[in-house]
Amino acid sequence: MRAIPHVVNGHRLEEPGRSPVFNPATGEQTAAVPVPGAETVDRVVAAARAGAARWAATSLSRRTNVLFALRELLVRHTDELAALVTAEHGKTLADARGEIARGVENVEYACGLIEHLKGDFSDQVADGVDVHSLRQPLGVVAAITPFNFPVMVPLWMAANALASGNAVVLKPSERDPSPSVRLAELAVEAGLPDGVFNVLQGDATTVTALLEHPGIDGVSFVGSTPVARLVHETASRAGKPVQALGGAKNHMVVLPDADLDVAADAAVSAGYGSAGERCMAISVVVAVGEIADELVERIATRVDGLRVGPGDDPASDFGPLITGAHRDRVIAYVEGAAREGARVVRDGRAATGGPGFFAGPTLLDGVAPGMRCYDDEIFGPVLGVARAASFDEAVSLVNANPYGNGVAIFTRDGNAARLFTRAVSVGMIGVNVPIPVPISSYSFGGWKNSLFGHSHIYGPEGFAFYTRAKVVTTRWPQPSDSQIDLGFPRTR
Ligand code: NAD
Repeated sequence: MRAIPHVVNGHRLEEPGRSPVFNPATGEQTAAVPVPGAETVDRVVAAARAGAARWAATSLSRRTNVLFALRELLVRHTDELAALVTAEHGKTLADARGEIARGVENVEYACGLIEHLKGDFSDQVADGVDVHSLRQPLGVVAAITPFNFPVMVPLWMAANALASGNAVVLKPSERDPSPSVRLAELAVEAGLPDGVFNVLQGDATTVTALLEHPGIDGVSFVGSTPVARLVHETASRAGKPVQALGGAKNHMVVLPDADLDVAADAAVSAGYGSAGERCMAISVVVAVGEIADELVERIATRVDGLRVGPGDDPASDFGPLITGAHRDRVIAYVEGAAREGARVVRDGRAATGGPGFFAGPTLLDGVAPGMRCYDDEIFGPVLGVARAASFDEAVSLVNANPYGNGVAIFTRDGNAARLFTRAVSVGMIGVNVPIPVPISSYSFGGWKNSLFGHSHIYGPEGFAFYTRAKVVTTRWPQPSDSQIDLGFPRTR
């Protein structure tokens, strides 16, 4: 069985594979991921430390040139990367190209590093005294990523971490590890010095080894909520700055004045795109007032037109789930939903089966807190509709949810949208936009159980996270100014 390599110092490092990688469309195992021992972890971290020292001393203009070159290579290799994503993740090629384009945006933002890393200068804060600030890289950053965006999420982290002068050890998901290998190789081709962008394959044990390793200076994590919480606790205990983005249960509130066709199109696109395996997928539509029956009907009609199939078939609207075990878990939620009192309006189990990990689109009506199909992040093509009598009830439902990643409101009433935007305890909000993933010049992150740590990822908060501030107070005294003064220094 082909083993997926690590990448260290710009070269592939082969080890025997242990954790299986599947083609989710066929159910076949195509490769295996090595799970490194302590010696390999030490070797990769040592390479990164040497790389970090070199890279931090590299001029900003040279760093910018490398990032520009990386941007060009990512664009040129989009089809190749997309094929790797589809082969191991299962999403459609069009969707894979979309995530690569969003990742490239982060590199484009990072190309402005000379502006983002600019310090401040205050002249003459006291007689003959000036103050300036600068930001310096953390050192070596561990980037730990989930399976659902094997190119975009590594670039959320790596683009700004590299621009800030850090070295990166990327620990990709063991489910779809191949794109990370190509990313590292393209970074080297772009001119990144040896040891600056390394890939360490592995599983949960590898993550723990990185979190506790003294050679790691900061941790960016994206994944499920229980693991995000654990990663945040472990890294914090080890004294490392950590940002850990977790799972989601995103609501889309539809007010009675909304255009129901627009809302139904948006709910179907955001609910079933990428088989619902997006942290910004809509999983609950909240129908406010008397529109509920009509909205359910319009969504159901659209669901009937969806086609589930292999990601490399242009006719497929969405592909298989990541593993057979995950497919079974998703199906179990659909089975449980009817027992819990929800109405199964469209049943995706009919399209399930065969060797591939396919599940068809399911639409549930009448989901509510206390039902597992409402409370849990299903992460599959299952869209629930909850009903709320009023705007206030819809806001309360959203705010009572323990997750706070994304939310959307569909309405033609600007004031209602404004009130909603101010009232919800959620990090990313869409007004008539169902998947409100911010552009790269803003930062991305949720509230509550969707984010552990204070910092959102990429954008300005990314640069702040990957650097440490220094403030320098300077005086060039003339001998005649010099005197002994035991008082506390004052500026006036
Ligand atoms: P996951 O938490 O299972 O895995 C994420 C990473 O953590 C992987 O690299 C994995 O090897 C590692 N890991 C798994 N278990 C671990 C453990 N016990 N200890 C240490 N490390 C461990 O997540 P996933 O299934 O790959 O990804 C899907 C999840 O990610 C969903 O919950 C989704 O909402 C979330 N997600 C969130 C965002 C966001 O921005 N908030 C973005 C994408 C995905």
